[in-house]
Amino acid sequence: MSSTNKLHEEKTDPQQLKETLALACRILGTEGHDDLNLGHLSARAKDQAGLMYMKGRGLCLSEVRAKDLVTIDFDYKKVAGQRDAHGELPIHIEIYRKRTDVNCVVHTHPLYATAFSATGQRLRPVNNESVLFAKPLPYFDRVTDLVVTRALGGALAAELGEEKAIFMKNHGIVVVGETIEQATVRAFLLEKAVKTLFVAKVFGEPGWTDDEEADRKAQRIFTEPKTKAMWAALVRQLEYKEAPLRILTLLEEQMAKSQLR
Ligand SMILES: [Zn+2]
Repeated sequence: MSSTNKLHEEKTDPQQLKETLALACRILGTEGHDDLNLGHLSARAKDQAGLMYMKGRGLCLSEVRAKDLVTIDFDYKKVAGQRDAHGELPIHIEIYRKRTDVNCVVHTHPLYATAFSATGQRLRPVNNESVLFAKPLPYFDRVTDLVVTRALGGALAAELGEEKAIFMKNHGIVVVGETIEQATVRAFLLEKAVKTLFVAKVFGEPGWTDDEEADRKAQRIFTEPKTKAMWAALVRQLEYKEAPLRILTLLEEQMAKSQLR
């Protein structure tokens, strides 16, 4: 059994998968992907074919807990969850239909990558981890509007092809992964890559890692243990950021208890 399969095996428990997906939403929300209540992540259910868990409508990514997710089948029906579903379901469902290797889809509007999506330019790797995107990423430019029909979702999935991410012109990004962890790390690094390029361009005309070295570098950097270590670092950073909220919740609970006495 490959190590990738082992990773998937650990995640067949639906509640554990939902907790990880909610964590991924909050990580990306606090790492530059929050855009008010917009943007969404989903994960393919592992215990039942043709189902996915997805962020429900109405919250910032940084606010999402497992109870805020909805369960949707690949016929576009909501089968569980208190919240309404986001309108851009076709992005997720049509990618899952086409890509059996994909188990997590991220669609967000981070500032730098969204601004870059307006240019149609090729993203050049100017920092270490952006070699992950050295092979030109595809652009979806059929519409700049929301992807709310099956036809548009299918067109986006076709344009994504076998790639790990796609720019949506004047709109945002879609990033996919075999696991929630991998898709989250990739989405974090894509925004970081564009942000670093932006800063480099402020200083002058940047040089970049050539294709051959980028390929070698990517193979060294993006092994499964290293991706997992990056995910673990993102989880720890989130824990520090959420610490004041945890303390506040604890204090409120204690005050409520003492009032009951
Ligand atoms: Zn969108």
